[in-house]
Amino acid sequence: MKREILSVTFDNVTMEEALERASALAREGKSDYIVTPNSEIVYEARKNEALAKALKGASLVIPDGIGVVYASKILSKPLKQKVAGIELGERLIEYASLNGLSVYLFGAKPGIAERAKDKLCEKYPGLNVAGVQDGYFKDGSDREREIIEDINSKAPNILIACLGVPKQELWMNAHKDELNVRVMLGLGGSMDIYAGVSKRAPDIFIKLSLEWFYRLCKEPWRIKRMIKLPLFLLLAVKVRLFGEK
Ligand code: UDP
Repeated sequence: MKREILSVTFDNVTMEEALERASALAREGKSDYIVTPNSEIVYEARKNEALAKALKGASLVIPDGIGVVYASKILSKPLKQKVAGIELGERLIEYASLNGLSVYLFGAKPGIAERAKDKLCEKYPGLNVAGVQDGYFKDGSDREREIIEDINSKAPNILIACLGVPKQELWMNAHKDELNVRVMLGLGGSMDIYAGVSKRAPDIFIKLSLEWFYRLCKEPWRIKRMIKLPLFLLLAVKVRLFGEK
């Protein structure tokens, strides 16, 4: 079932349901892609048409932020739960290791995807990582062409794309028709965490829905981006009271 939250249409799924859908796409999809918007991205998509279009083109849209879940409640269209993209990505990688599907790791600074490969292969023996590429290239450059050709020559089931927002969403939407992959996931900073070069919040913060607060303390420069969270909730209240106009 779908729920429209401030102009972005989300799939109202639990983590298990999201994993079921994602693994079906990993087996049988055709350049499908999955996006994981949080409140900041939904807010941004209201002004950025290309990002809004890229979100619309996704086969699965999961709410990767407690702000989106709060907004869904304010709007009386409650979403079942926050589904963290980083966890869905890892669950899908585990599924791939158990079912003989291949994974391609794309994104983050040079060397990070290789480190993520080593860590993930250690954790999930038998995992087939078909290729790795860093995420630093110019649109339309020879380097980008090389990356696309390498991905296509490996034809992975799953492409993990960690290029940051909105680069990864725009990239998946722009290149889907020329990519030979089953499914792609746009997962932002997850590659750094899979590689062990940055850490996710401790469990207690995740359980209390305060992961955003932990991140803010660790990376205070994010305040400029995170300031959108209260604005986003205010917008939800405004739309609830007065409608979209
Ligand atoms: N990144 C990239 N290519 C770029 C810009 C960023 O591969 O051109 C990577 C960056 O190294 C980092 C990730 O994208 O690993 C973005 O991380 P961040 O935590 O900022 O994710 P977001 O909050 O955008 O989801």
